[in-house]
Amino acid sequence: MLILKRADFGVGIADEGIVRVSSLSDWGSCPIAINRRSIYNPSLELTKSPTAIIGSIVHAVLERGEDTGRIELFNSLIEEIELELSLSSRTSHLVPLRKTIGESKWRTTISRLESFGVASLPSKRRGKFVGKSNRRLRIGREIFLESSDKSVGGIADQISAFDNGVIIDEYKTGDIFARDGRTKSSFEFQLIAYGLLAEEYDFYGKIRLRLSNGESTVDVNFTDSSKKVVSEKINRAKDVVSRGDKTPIPGVDCKYCPMRLVCGDYYEAVMGWWNHAPDFDIPSDIIGEIQSVSHEANFTKIKLLDLAGRPCVVRGISARHKISSNDVGKKIAIFNISSKSQQVGEGGRRLHPLSFFENSTSQRSSFYSVTDIFELQ
Ligand code: SF4
Repeated sequence: MLILKRADFGVGIADEGIVRVSSLSDWGSCPIAINRRSIYNPSLELTKSPTAIIGSIVHAVLERGEDTGRIELFNSLIEEIELELSLSSRTSHLVPLRKTIGESKWRTTISRLESFGVASLPSKRRGKFVGKSNRRLRIGREIFLESSDKSVGGIADQISAFDNGVIIDEYKTGDIFARDGRTKSSFEFQLIAYGLLAEEYDFYGKIRLRLSNGESTVDVNFTDSSKKVVSEKINRAKDVVSRGDKTPIPGVDCKYCPMRLVCGDYYEAVMGWWNHAPDFDIPSDIIGEIQSVSHEANFTKIKLLDLAGRPCVVRGISARHKISSNDVGKKIAIFNISSKSQQVGEGGRRLHPLSFFENSTSQRSSFYSVTDIFELQ
């Protein structure tokens, strides 16, 4: 089992960091979470999900801007990342990525990669500018946009010109619709934020926003009311950054924060949330003391008492974590586990789980997060 020492703890914003549009979409109030790509020690981030890894590779391929040779480039980048993943005990089980994410998801990713944006950008206009001043808006793929005060920025997948202005395209490798059939709000947020940044540049005409995953393409409303919601959040983030506030504020941001592994404020807050469950999604982590270890087929089952005093069980733990009965009595933190059943906790206001299982590669779930386990010393 990997060991995490208290001395490893510490999160922070790099001083030169700008607020990234992609961090803002689900940002609540923690100043660190606004720019969560900046961490003092990146090797102490939680393991990225295979879906996120493949999404970054797709973006790296699109960044090159060529319509041909994409699959060859994709395959060679996959080879590079697989070599890197195979060198760490935390990530070697994810190789080969094709098997980990499953054949059908792999084939969809390849066909989406082939169809992304090819038709919509006339080659002769690539990399050209529209507008005349030194804040001209550039068109092409992977265009960096930033606010005029340089405090907020992000990379738009593609900006192209059309008769009445510019189209900003955002490409996603996964679903763009939520369960209720509506466009995912975090994607809409991101595009509207790009639209607002683009408005600060010099260009002619209107802005049209388009979201696509290669199979479906939808327009995102860029109206006064949608702009108002997003610009309020951007202004709030700018305000936090300008105040120089770097104190972590545990809450809604923690759910997907890769820095919770080394965030002392998170450890102190999270276990209290179970018994007084707040109205936001609590991260699927358990921190507690191992009470017993047993083995079922090729997997390990542990019972532990978590810091909220809840007796919990975690099943299906892979042998790669090397947990044995010698670990009974140790304090551990398990990140990114799943649960099926839920119970009402003592004093709790809502249902919460006591029985968990490791997110395993054999589940073939394309969106699972990777389970990390650490002994806390
Ligand atoms: S874990 Fe929570 S409190 Fe800590 S930096 Fe991340 S969002 Fe902020």
